[in-house]
Amino acid sequence: MITKKILKVGLGVIIFSFILRAQISTISTAAMSDHGNFDFKEYLNKPRIALTFDDGPHQFFTSEILKVLEREGARATFFVVGKQVKIFPELLQEIARSGNEIGNHTYNHYNLTMLDEAQINFEIKSNEELIKRVTSLTPRFFRPPGGHYNYKVVEAAKDNGEDMALWSIHPRDTDRPQVEYILQKVLNNVEDQSVILLHSGVEQTLEALPQLIRELRKKGYRLVTLSELDGKSS
Ligand SMILES: [Zn+2]
Repeated sequence: MITKKILKVGLGVIIFSFILRAQISTISTAAMSDHGNFDFKEYLNKPRIALTFDDGPHQFFTSEILKVLEREGARATFFVVGKQVKIFPELLQEIARSGNEIGNHTYNHYNLTMLDEAQINFEIKSNEELIKRVTSLTPRFFRPPGGHYNYKVVEAAKDNGEDMALWSIHPRDTDRPQVEYILQKVLNNVEDQSVILLHSGVEQTLEALPQLIRELRKKGYRLVTLSELDGKSS
């Protein structure tokens, strides 16, 4: 009984120290660089936003995005597609190891409003199981491809225990606009709690990312995962 208790406490300490380390590393690269001396209260009270990267893992760009996020001390959420995970499972593990969040973006990336209930359920469930198998993590958020949904999609997400997460800002990066357009579209519209939709396989997005993160930070934002934005750690 006591041994069990100690084990539990011990585990708690390990988990806590892990969270603390993650926090400190984010702080040291994020808030500390903005301010000469660090004010924890001010840091926690900063407005927060979530960057999200859809449609990966991408053969070339996912690792590059992760490197930029780490270098800039920011965190994000990756909505991954099952058929991509199947080809690049090691890239999904890389996302998991980095401490960024993984979300469910269905197995095949079909427009779910064109499917029946069983097919919608398959799209959500099979990707969730694949993510679990590859990373041991259970995605908390689900995003329907193209943002297309109806009541059947909402029900299926709920049945699978996932919260549907859309977005508030989309610089239409899949149209491959100029880097400057992506930057301005986000920076001119951002506000506290914004969820920004970006895509993993777009060169211009990767190019825009370092400056985007720095400009957002200059405006006083903390860049967090969706779970953190929602008040729960990932
Ligand atoms: Zn998508």
